[in-house]
Amino acid sequence: MSRYWSEIVRTLTPYVPGEQPKIDGLVKLNTNECPYGPSEKVLAAIAGQNSEALRLYPDPQASALKAAIARRHGLAENQVFVGNGSDEVLAHIFMGLLRHEAPLLFPDISYSFYPVYAKLYGIATRAIPLAGDFSLRVDDYLQAGPNGGIIFANPNAPTGMPLPLAEIRRLLQGNPDSVVVVDEAYVDFGAESAVGLIAEFPQLLVVHTLSKSRALAGLRVGYAMGHADLIEALTRVKDSFNSYPLDRLAIAGAVAAIEDEVWFEATCRKVIATRERMVAGLQARGFQVLPSAANFVFAQRPGSEGAALAAGLREHKVLVRHFRAPERIAPFLRISVGTEAQTDALLAALDAILA
Ligand code: PMP
Repeated sequence: MSRYWSEIVRTLTPYVPGEQPKIDGLVKLNTNECPYGPSEKVLAAIAGQNSEALRLYPDPQASALKAAIARRHGLAENQVFVGNGSDEVLAHIFMGLLRHEAPLLFPDISYSFYPVYAKLYGIATRAIPLAGDFSLRVDDYLQAGPNGGIIFANPNAPTGMPLPLAEIRRLLQGNPDSVVVVDEAYVDFGAESAVGLIAEFPQLLVVHTLSKSRALAGLRVGYAMGHADLIEALTRVKDSFNSYPLDRLAIAGAVAAIEDEVWFEATCRKVIATRERMVAGLQARGFQVLPSAANFVFAQRPGSEGAALAAGLREHKVLVRHFRAPERIAPFLRISVGTEAQTDALLAALDAILA
């Protein structure tokens, strides 16, 4: 730690490199990547980028990608903002739209980056506890008076639990003056998307990523959708520090990914089917599993410690995610849905540990 570091930087913790180990042969069920490779069309599109293309700067507007996204979701191009992974898109949202005197509301527990971004950008926050069954209670977000914004993930992370569309509508109706951000990183695995509400609610931003249901975590592409007015605000923020949102390989690969609906539908179906088998296998081994609409499950086994289970699985070369804090989730494991073979390996490892 250097004396040159600011107070805020001193409080930040680096990403745990242990989550991305460089060891061969691991069954990697800890960071919610897609267990299958992306569409062949993505690989072909990237391979099609020749030396002339790479010599030149990319399109600062990434228009081809915005057009593909707009077509897929029934929006106009000026209702789409793109960035290097949804993490970067979220960073722009925090910088540009959520910086107000009033606090930003988000659920406790939710995606761990929200409080980190808030701290980094000097945003006041109010964490609202989830109910006892880990569901989000919309009534808790319908308080009197303005707030600086609301952000939540649907399905939530790390619980995987979805919030019904009717509830999202109720939350929007009760918060006409606040930007409401719905982070739909995992929506394609069984939750209802709020994209259809954009026409009705000018304060709504919906964030998607290509890292999960498009199997492109390595390409780093995410996007936000909303009223053109909100999107313009994000573009102003972006243009002020890096006016090239995505490189040429990312743009080409992402367009191909968005356009390959057949690959997308089949992959989501496959992941959902494996999730259901994994849930049944976990329940048969004494686990309680929260209802998941994501490509991961959140499960605890009464009588077993979360940390001990995670360590035991690691000894069997199966990597899952365990959060030591907050205390409420310490008994749980977050397990990404893998291939059928990886699911077999997970269940066999559990049998060995629990024997
Ligand atoms: N939102 C949520 C809820 C996530 O779990 C993740 C993945 N860690 C992200 C956003 C960021 O994903 P990416 O930057 O890969 O698009």
